[in-house]
Amino acid sequence: MILSCARRFFGFALISVMCSTAAQAQVYEIDGKTVPKNEYDAAIFSNDARKLLQEQKWAEAESKLKQALEQDPKMKAARNNMGIVLVRLGKYDEAIAVLKSLVEDDPSQSMAWATLGASYMSVGKIDDAIVCYRKFLVLEPNYREAARYKDLVKGLEAEAAKRKTTGTTQAADSYASSTPQGTAKWASFAQPFKVYVPATSTVRGYKPEYEKILIEAFKKWQSASNDKVRFEFVDKVENSDIDCVWKDDPTEAVFKAEGGHAHLETLGGKIKHAKIYLLTVWSMNLTPTDAIMGKLALHEVGHSLGILGHSDNRDDIMFFTIDVSPKEGQVSPRDVKTLGELYK
Ligand SMILES: [Zn+2]
Repeated sequence: MILSCARRFFGFALISVMCSTAAQAQVYEIDGKTVPKNEYDAAIFSNDARKLLQEQKWAEAESKLKQALEQDPKMKAARNNMGIVLVRLGKYDEAIAVLKSLVEDDPSQSMAWATLGASYMSVGKIDDAIVCYRKFLVLEPNYREAARYKDLVKGLEAEAAKRKTTGTTQAADSYASSTPQGTAKWASFAQPFKVYVPATSTVRGYKPEYEKILIEAFKKWQSASNDKVRFEFVDKVENSDIDCVWKDDPTEAVFKAEGGHAHLETLGGKIKHAKIYLLTVWSMNLTPTDAIMGKLALHEVGHSLGILGHSDNRDDIMFFTIDVSPKEGQVSPRDVKTLGELYK
């Protein structure tokens, strides 16, 4: 699964504002420059929003930014941050509208390009996302995570190329046959699958809640599939069919631009063992929210069951990019139908 990158930017703009009384008139200053009152008020709202953004209070931040933009609709810092907030609230189409108009007004807004790329990625517009990330990399060649962005672009290009070669549109109720990577079957259908989830971990960013979240992901697949796939949790890795590992280094080759990875060990084209890697620390030392980790876990469990490709529909958990909104992840009817074709 490829990560959406908007969350990597926490350089929210702080504007220095000053209000003084010179003779009879009120003087409003931003960064030492006298400005009209509306721009001054907008900067105050925007600064309030910045604090809320750092606390990840997205809805409250959105309302402050709305107030800022009512005062000064052209304010770049507020539009930039509004884009990030809208992505985090899962309002991707609104984010695209705000950010598109910002980069049209000022193409040097590098952060807006990156967030716009993430928004396009989240709605499955891969070609548009690639254009945005490329613009970002041209503007910020020395950005500390430029290498990761380059990997992301490569990943997106590969995904785009695969879609072009298959040239098929996915069926309305399943995507098994039309994903470029297709599906793989397990060698043995001796269910329940034995799953090893570590009880704890010493990796950075690990939260005790993650164990439950991961177990829940397996249970969600089991119940959504009406017990077509069943799991039993075991205490020892060596007894497992599927085992899970927490990792805290986003630069590890296995992750590239991804937050999770399912490694399938195969023999004669059949799966013998699956290993799920999940990343606890993303870029900028951020840890994913529980909702994001839940969706990431569900997605990688889907791969471990043999769904190798991705859906083209963002309502499916096997959509190629993660939804960073607080919405809880679910296995969709289409995911279930696709799985069903593997476990007939
Ligand atoms: Zn994936």
